[in-house]
Amino acid sequence: MSSLTARAAEWQKSCGCMLTFHRAAPAAKWADLPNKGFYLNLDYLDNLLGTLKRDGWEIVTADEIVCRLKLGENGSRLVNFSVDDCYRDTFEHVVPLFRRHGVPVTLFVTTGIPDGTMPLGWAGLEAILAERAQITYNGQTVEVSTHQAKQQWFARISSAWETHDFYDEFAKFCQVNGVDPLELRDEHAITWEMLETFKGDPLVEIGAHTVSHYRISSLPEDQALQELAGSRQRLRARLGIDCRHFAFPYGRSGDCGKRDFDLAREAGFVSASTTRKGLVRQGQDLFSLPRNTLNGVHQSMAYASFLLSGLAGLAARVLGRV
Ligand SMILES: [Zn+2]
Repeated sequence: MSSLTARAAEWQKSCGCMLTFHRAAPAAKWADLPNKGFYLNLDYLDNLLGTLKRDGWEIVTADEIVCRLKLGENGSRLVNFSVDDCYRDTFEHVVPLFRRHGVPVTLFVTTGIPDGTMPLGWAGLEAILAERAQITYNGQTVEVSTHQAKQQWFARISSAWETHDFYDEFAKFCQVNGVDPLELRDEHAITWEMLETFKGDPLVEIGAHTVSHYRISSLPEDQALQELAGSRQRLRARLGIDCRHFAFPYGRSGDCGKRDFDLAREAGFVSASTTRKGLVRQGQDLFSLPRNTLNGVHQSMAYASFLLSGLAGLAARVLGRV
């Protein structure tokens, strides 16, 4: 990993790399997940952290990257890991792993998850598919007994819901399949009590990720500001912390733009992150920081090197995939 990044000219001009992921699962469980792209295998994450430390990378908070960017650092081997949304596995698996390595992790919390105001549609769909041999969908009985069928139906149903009222579709799906969405929420949601255990831990940095995980660019300005400022206020009210950093849901160029970056500043944040690939470099706007997504489909050391070297960002810009 070190030789690739040392060669990359992109890296020499940067102040660090921000990486993000959503969920992580133990290796045995990960292999059978219907939506495994959304999860990292914990063994892979463990190995990645160990490799980065051995190769001399400095794993830091988002705050540290922003501070050192302001100090004008270049060519630093800084890397930040952030977890978006925050589910129960953040508490059970992810934070304990980072603590074991003695390195920090940033949690971008969607406050509707611990507040119970945001239905956990993706997690719920996945849990139902994982547990059942048959489901009811669009009035028909569908066989989902094999691993392959579970994955295919997850992809098919989740993409169909994207074009409808997502929460409404999920509620109807739960009803026809005899599932209590509140039970699913208890199984998957992080709670305020879990988040309270992270308070004061220098290895756990807490940032905001909206109230309800809407695509911010799609909202009228007042509602968009409420999503940003509301999550910050809620984290202060429940945890007594002054949240300095924000991450946009989805985070690609169609999901958040100039108006939204200005709103993040107005909401009182010090920085806001996207999911546009690339490295953090001098002259970078602090309210549209690039972050590189790690997911279960591409969990290899080679792909991590591709992101860390800045070559992924370069390729995305060349191909117009931002
Ligand atoms: Zn998210």
